[in-house]
Amino acid sequence: MKIMPNRLDRGFTMYQKEFEDKAVQVLRSGWYVLGSEVKSFEEEFASYIGSKYCVGVASGLDALILAFRALGIGEGDEVLVQANTYIASVMGITINGATPVFIEPDEQYGIDASKLEAAVTGRTKAVLAVHLYGQACQMDEITRICKKYNLKLVEDCAQSHGSEFGGQMTGTFGDIGCFSFYPSKHLGAFGDGGAIVTDRKELADAVRVLRNYGSEKRYYNQVVGVNSRLDEMQAGLLRVRLSHIDELTQDKRRIAARYMRELANPYFELPLMREGATHIWHQFVIRSRYRQQLIEYLDKLEIGTIIHYPIPPHLSEAYAYLGYQKGAFGITERYADQVLSIPMYNGMTDQEQDYVIEALNRFKPETV
Ligand SMILES: *Cc1c(COP(=O)(O)O)cnc(C)c1O
Repeated sequence: MKIMPNRLDRGFTMYQKEFEDKAVQVLRSGWYVLGSEVKSFEEEFASYIGSKYCVGVASGLDALILAFRALGIGEGDEVLVQANTYIASVMGITINGATPVFIEPDEQYGIDASKLEAAVTGRTKAVLAVHLYGQACQMDEITRICKKYNLKLVEDCAQSHGSEFGGQMTGTFGDIGCFSFYPSKHLGAFGDGGAIVTDRKELADAVRVLRNYGSEKRYYNQVVGVNSRLDEMQAGLLRVRLSHIDELTQDKRRIAARYMRELANPYFELPLMREGATHIWHQFVIRSRYRQQLIEYLDKLEIGTIIHYPIPPHLSEAYAYLGYQKGAFGITERYADQVLSIPMYNGMTDQEQDYVIEALNRFKPETV
């Protein structure tokens, strides 16, 4: 049996007729950018997340860039961010001219709240919490520290659509929540897309102006903005997916529950759950000291896996200018050497799950 790490086609066929009807409707409407589908999606997504405003943009990276820009964070400012994140989180900070200050992750892969205070300086302006793999960060501690030091709080929710901490949705804890709708994300479009959510009208207005050449009214430009709009086709298709998000989340939770219950092997570790947090299982990430052997073993059985992420941002070529050496963030670097995402996607069959579970449980490294 051949099993891919992700199957985007399954997420399409589950609701094929609804997606196709919506696509035809948008094509026939004669209106393709910033129209009624975007407006409706923004309202429905804000309502789902429980925030007052949502502004659609072209990608998750743009959501991050425009969020920091709207908050006035740039040159000379420092932003605390976990070192083990996807590099786009860091680019959202540095494209604005601000400096990322890396913090090690905790055992659930979120920013380690107990290490934040020691990193605060006179230049610290914000914290970027990344709910990596779909599990919420330690939001009670993070919000407490942000209040204490008067720091802005931005959440990178590109992997956490619908996950909660203390019964509250990720994206609503701080000033702005940033989402990506890249096709492989939990709420995925059929192309690129993103959004910010916020309860503060002035921030929503600022992003709405920035995404459209700095103008609210056509040809009256208030600031130098960008072209970063969610299009009508993606917004319409996202509305279809959003209407099913609870069942999509339940589907992944059933798979994850099986993995957690049935996977058992001393040669890898299962994910740890954070008390008070929920997980939407954007990725199911295990950790092994024998990762390379495990990948090759699974590959022979035609089970695909992905490493999220092999090179932490501080060691990437893009950020060589920050001057970090190997060893600067030991926990992050160990995770980068050991994490492995196993197949997890909506529409994964019981037989596919059986096959993955059996294979993983039978793994034994050759050189122990
Ligand atoms: C995917 C992702 C992004 C970037 O989103 P795009 O839509 O691909 O630009 C940012 N942060 C994290 C954590 C992501 O997983």
